[in-house]
Amino acid sequence: MYGIRIPQTALERILANLERRGADTVAVCAAGVYREPEIEWLELLHHSTTFVRGDIRFALREILKQDLFPLLVISRRSSDARMDNYVEILRRLVTVPAGILAFFGWNETVRIRGCLIEGSLPRRVDHLSVPGARMLRYRVEAHDGPGGSGRRDESKQFREADEPAGERQTALSKETLFEGRYSRLAGALGRGNVATGYRYLERARMLKVAVLGTGRLGSLTALRLAQSGVGAEGGLILADGDAVEESNLDAMLLPPQAVGTPKSIAVARMIRGLFPFVRVLPIVGTLSDCKVARALTAADVVFTAVDEEYARLGAALLARRYHLVHIDIAGGLAYTGRGRVLTGGEVRMSVPGSLGCVGCFGRYRWDEIERLLSLDSEEEKERRSGTQWIEQRPGSWGDVLLPVVGESQQLFWQLVRGDIGRSVWLHYEHRDSGLPVWRDWTPSQARMSRCPLCSGQQGWGDLREEGGL
Ligand SMILES: [Zn+2]
Repeated sequence: MYGIRIPQTALERILANLERRGADTVAVCAAGVYREPEIEWLELLHHSTTFVRGDIRFALREILKQDLFPLLVISRRSSDARMDNYVEILRRLVTVPAGILAFFGWNETVRIRGCLIEGSLPRRVDHLSVPGARMLRYRVEAHDGPGGSGRRDESKQFREADEPAGERQTALSKETLFEGRYSRLAGALGRGNVATGYRYLERARMLKVAVLGTGRLGSLTALRLAQSGVGAEGGLILADGDAVEESNLDAMLLPPQAVGTPKSIAVARMIRGLFPFVRVLPIVGTLSDCKVARALTAADVVFTAVDEEYARLGAALLARRYHLVHIDIAGGLAYTGRGRVLTGGEVRMSVPGSLGCVGCFGRYRWDEIERLLSLDSEEEKERRSGTQWIEQRPGSWGDVLLPVVGESQQLFWQLVRGDIGRSVWLHYEHRDSGLPVWRDWTPSQARMSRCPLCSGQQGWGDLREEGGL
């Protein structure tokens, strides 16, 4: 499977610039790469753009110097001959994977043609993902390069490696979904226009969504996602390293016999029982386990509902590097500095192509973030086992989790609908009067642009920086 990921804001900027600068301009983008050799998965991830008129060789060399990969974007006035020319240049000059996309029209009527050049072969691009407002995914028509068709390699069929044989869930037919179960939700999403609402539902159904931490908050999140059909086709990944304890049963919707079962498996069983049409994949482990990190990387949207700051920051880092939407949720009771108990929560959504992440939506010091992110798997386990919850929190309250889960789902749907396309921090607390208040705590652009996590790292993919993150 070969794909290209360009955040919606970056793609809009590229296309607007090409339009303004004229037909002889090409966007020469630097891209990171996301590669999973075992499943023959390769995606180019947009990192930055320069606009070039005329000779592109200098711009290509600059990209290669940074250990990044070239991705050319040309506009609707482009001809096949022009694409052939760029294919030839890339084949001669570049030995790493490189991509070309040509846009004919935009928005509803867009047609995209393209190819990915690896070695000397032009290969078919299977999809263009555009994370951000509307969460669109486009089919890309093949462009085989000079000499016409017949050279692309279609023998290597993509296989879902994360799906054990025999576990495939029965998919409900579209008609059944449309006519029955989701009519209310579709009406609400479409603001009364049910057909529009179903379009949003279909988009959400195709997404791959991950939930890291399936305890009190995360299990409710997973339940609501599955109940709304989110990830029913794309897949719903659930990851948690802990097992269900007796004390979880006051807030997790699980039967008593689930005690002792890994949380991700117990929640997956519940979801399979209630919503058999959702493809759910449980993983036992924390973010410091390689398999969990790789599974999250493959998602479009990652929810984190974790106790450990290390895990939410690690997910934020992955989200930036691989262009994933990250929605972090936290809630319940907490001690304040003055010994008081505060009731409330946070919902922090980080959208690719827009500044803002849990690193700058909080009160972290950068050295603390670096230290937390550099823990290896063993150190992280030790840290977890040494933590007593009673030192950190006075307790937990299932009722307080519900508004946090609800608002985070609402943000997700606003993103799918295209109402919102930027990072947002929502803060919720009970005032001294006992009444709840929600506030938009999204910081200023100036503060976010100083965050090393979201202002750098964008689209780097697998690239490793020496001596750093
Ligand atoms: Zn940030």
